[in-house]
Amino acid sequence: MDTLSKTLNHNVKIMKSSVTKHAIYGTLIAVTAIIFATLLSCYFHYGEISLFNLMETQKNNITLWVLDAMPFIFAFWGQYTSSIMAYEASAIIMDQTADLKNLNVALEYKAAHEATHDAITALPNRLLLMDRLEQAIQSALRQKASLAFFILDIDGFKEINDTLGHYSGDRLLKQVVTRLQGTIRKSDTLARVGADEFAILMQVEPSKKNIMHIVRKVQKIFIEPFPLETLAIEVQASIGIAIFPNHGKEMDTIMQRANVALYAAKQDSKKYTIYSKQLDQNSPHRLTMMGELRQAIKNDELILYFQPKVNLHTQKVIGVEALVRWEHPEHGFMTPDEFIPMAERTGLITPLSIWVLNHALAQAEEWHRQNIKLSIAINLSPVTFLDTELPNLIIGMLSLYNIPPNYIILEITESSMINDPSLAMEIMKRLTNSGIKISIDDFGTGYSSLAYLRELPTSEVKIDKSFVTDMLKKDNDAVIVQAIIDLGHNLSLNVVAEGVEDKETAIQLKKLGCDVLQGYYISKPKPNDELLKWLPKKKNARVVKQN
Ligand code: C2E
Ligand code: CA
Ligand code: CA
Repeated sequence: MDTLSKTLNHNVKIMKSSVTKHAIYGTLIAVTAIIFATLLSCYFHYGEISLFNLMETQKNNITLWVLDAMPFIFAFWGQYTSSIMAYEASAIIMDQTADLKNLNVALEYKAAHEATHDAITALPNRLLLMDRLEQAIQSALRQKASLAFFILDIDGFKEINDTLGHYSGDRLLKQVVTRLQGTIRKSDTLARVGADEFAILMQVEPSKKNIMHIVRKVQKIFIEPFPLETLAIEVQASIGIAIFPNHGKEMDTIMQRANVALYAAKQDSKKYTIYSKQLDQNSPHRLTMMGELRQAIKNDELILYFQPKVNLHTQKVIGVEALVRWEHPEHGFMTPDEFIPMAERTGLITPLSIWVLNHALAQAEEWHRQNIKLSIAINLSPVTFLDTELPNLIIGMLSLYNIPPNYIILEITESSMINDPSLAMEIMKRLTNSGIKISIDDFGTGYSSLAYLRELPTSEVKIDKSFVTDMLKKDNDAVIVQAIIDLGHNLSLNVVAEGVEDKETAIQLKKLGCDVLQGYYISKPKPNDELLKWLPKKKNARVVKQN
């Protein structure tokens, strides 16, 4: 407040001195005018100017007295009103400056909040959780305290979203959050770390009894059904728990082990699991290897396989889908289903996606140099796709590799569009504006996106393999395949069927008007050297001579 009034006084002083300067000029001009007027008046009255005549003029002419006083009266009045105005103007400017500063602080706060919080539930997001976990670990180390880290996953959330729509899904999440907030302490952190995943971080005495007490409190919130629309929905959750420092002394390890426990909890009727070493050994998907995956990405231990796609109209191989594999030093060859879901949970998916993008584009560039004109489809997880930096990253990569952008297809799933359709749309537009194509992968399994498929700048839909593989045996699947082909064509989209395993299915797909085939019937995914040996033999794919 003191500095405020000082600044105010200082501003007023500056303005006053400028006003004073102009008042002096004004007074000088006015005095000169009065002298001139007196001289003229004297001359016209007496015919000559002398000191005596001047005094006589002055004495006899009362208006001259009034005139004489004017400059001083106006100078004083001007000075006085200007001072007041200077004061007011300065005060207004300072008020406005303060308002602008407040607005700026509010905007900065809002931006920081949005970057670290989830839009639907307003809870801290994964980023903020990681920061809190790191800080909690540091302070627990100093105080020799323990932490419990819970990961909670709502069972069957996807089905709820599918059947009731994502508006109801969001409402369910909000209700879960409200109930959870009622069970935890103010000092605990509750965060949303995935579509249907929450994390709770708390300082606890790590006895089994204590942990069980918390587990029961959390499980209790799921006893009452959740009201959604006119229904009362029964919801269950699985809980994985890791304790610091018992199960790990680093943030990554704690998060990863809680995930291992969560995975076990999902298979267990109790619906919760506290991490233990055996879980690592039993874990069928070797979930403990995230640290190793980080290294594998750095050390280029991943490999891309390529699965050919055949155009049903021209019978030619037109492109491939890049599918990542991991050659693990101990566990051997691993398919993406064994490590991608975990990479998505732990945030490792972003470096992994960057690795895949770089290697896929480098490979496509090499093929182009050898005059092998194949399009390359690259899978993007929803987490990666919704990273607002992604378009910049990919467009930057385009300038590094010499491939026409229309040879690059990004495969995204419908779930990429559910949480934030307008963001997804913006990202898609930026990518497609650069010439890249977008394909909707696993079409038909996700959310009922038919309404907005029309709005999306996509060029392709891929019918999910679960419908294709059995379409000759299951009438329902055949109906869905036909519907997707018709829908795609109505929207001028290229329709790809994946998971084609036999000739009969291929023929049937050709009859239905499908554009592109992909599946074991044509070829399994292959590494580059095998693909290069295979390609010349398949110049005219044996695919589908219609009977
Ligand atoms: P997707 O995108 O649906 O990929 C197709 C999967 O189906 C591949 O499994 C492929 O090997 C398999 N497949 C191809 N033809 C047939 C067939 O005729 N019959 C059957 N039963 N399966 C067939 P893969 O390579 O194990 O990949 C599994 C999933 O992992 C992919 O599903 C994709 O979602 C994900 N994925 C693979 N590579 C990447 C990647 O680089 N980044 C990301 N984010 N995800 C990836
Ligand atoms: Ca795919
Ligand atoms: Ca797929």
